[in-house]
Amino acid sequence: MGANYVSRQFPASNFAAMSALVDEACAEDGANDGHSYSGSWGVKIGDGLKVVEPPSLFADMQAADHWLGNICDKWGEILAVKVFQPNTKPLKGFDNKLNTLALERAKNSSALAGVGGWGDASKQPTSLHNTVLARIKAGKSKLKQCPQCESRVAVKHLKSAHCPVCFTQEAFYTDSDRQKLVRLQSKKETLAENIRQLEAERTALAKKQINEKTPWVWLVGASCSS
Ligand SMILES: [Zn+2]
Repeated sequence: MGANYVSRQFPASNFAAMSALVDEACAEDGANDGHSYSGSWGVKIGDGLKVVEPPSLFADMQAADHWLGNICDKWGEILAVKVFQPNTKPLKGFDNKLNTLALERAKNSSALAGVGGWGDASKQPTSLHNTVLARIKAGKSKLKQCPQCESRVAVKHLKSAHCPVCFTQEAFYTDSDRQKLVRLQSKKETLAENIRQLEAERTALAKKQINEKTPWVWLVGASCSS
């Protein structure tokens, strides 16, 4: 049993008028597809309709739809959000920068996979942690001594660059590995701060663009059991 996200747009109006259109659409879908596990709005009759606040001004209808699709619940109400449609050109610069930063953040997080934890980093072969482990495995020494507990560990049994005896994390990193790690971690913080700041500036600019003359539509979505 899955769920199918279905959304529709309705013209700007008060809640009652929009709600009447939603009821109509549900009845129509119900008549066409049935009322159970049809994957369309027919299954949502009686589930209620709730207006949700947008997190910020959406870049476009696609972004709005993506956001709404993520918060709709299969067993929850139909959700409606006002999507304002001002001139979004001034926001483009912010959106481009934010996209670039999001890519950098993804790269940074892959590079840090496996650090500071015992999770499986094998899915990120290019991560710093796996690079270190691969280098140790490829090296000549069959034993590796932990600088912390001084245990000698068989390289062939190592599953990470943490010490399996005293659990000291990153125990088998060299100084240069540690420097790389510090750089990656500081980059992570810088990226997070830059993203937070840009998002705040974008929201402030977006707010200024919405007034009583700004055109908008209702975007109404539902996650429909199928
Ligand atoms: Zn140790």
